[in-house]
Amino acid sequence: MIWFWLTLAVIIMGIASVVDFSTESKSKLLKDRVLIIFAHPDDESMFFGPTLEYLSQHQNVQVHLLCLSNGNADGLGYLRQTELVNAASQYRIPKSNIQILSDKRLSDGMYERWDSIVIAKHIHKYITEKDIKLAITFDKDGISGHPNHKACFYGALNASKMVADMQLFTLKSVGFFQKYLYWLDCCRMVVVQFLSSKQKHITIEAKRQSIQTIRNAMIEGHRSQMVWFRYGWIYLSRYMFLNTLEQVVF
Ligand SMILES: [Zn+2]
Repeated sequence: MIWFWLTLAVIIMGIASVVDFSTESKSKLLKDRVLIIFAHPDDESMFFGPTLEYLSQHQNVQVHLLCLSNGNADGLGYLRQTELVNAASQYRIPKSNIQILSDKRLSDGMYERWDSIVIAKHIHKYITEKDIKLAITFDKDGISGHPNHKACFYGALNASKMVADMQLFTLKSVGFFQKYLYWLDCCRMVVVQFLSSKQKHITIEAKRQSIQTIRNAMIEGHRSQMVWFRYGWIYLSRYMFLNTLEQVVF
């Protein structure tokens, strides 16, 4: 019986490696400067890795990172700031393109409520100073449901409304099955791909080399966060292999 399941797993992985899940054109993300907005050091690799890898492969795109806290919930804020810079180097993002906020109103924590107006002011300052017209952040469900992640969406939405021609994309949150059983979910995605050729989202699938880069960014970059269960995320979670982005209309 074990051979049946192993064979099935290999077949699914084979299908997933050759099927292009791209839907709407990814190229619309390729602006001169693109900002990724997230809540904590390690969010960029745990959730946005395929997008970062895709953007970083285009030399005419400058990728910027705005991290709204230093992730100090466990008193490791100073270390985690350094880890973010190290992880970003895996995606060839220079330190000069990274800003990590240290605003007491945006403290890391499950019970911390972040004011979207405060966040919007920080984001607006960054995008106007750097002349950025496209940003990507969490959607309103924040992938893991973390309130700091959800707050990123509302802050980015408010900031984007203040800037002419600004485009905002969000990373789609999915349910448990899709989140943790990526390889099995590939079967469903292949079927959906056949049934519906016109979907209004962008799918970015990381290729083998990119997946390794994302894993390295987590394992080598964010060492303080590499407790045992993180390996489950790295090897099973959809977000290490694939990002689905949706444009926000406002
Ligand atoms: Zn986070």
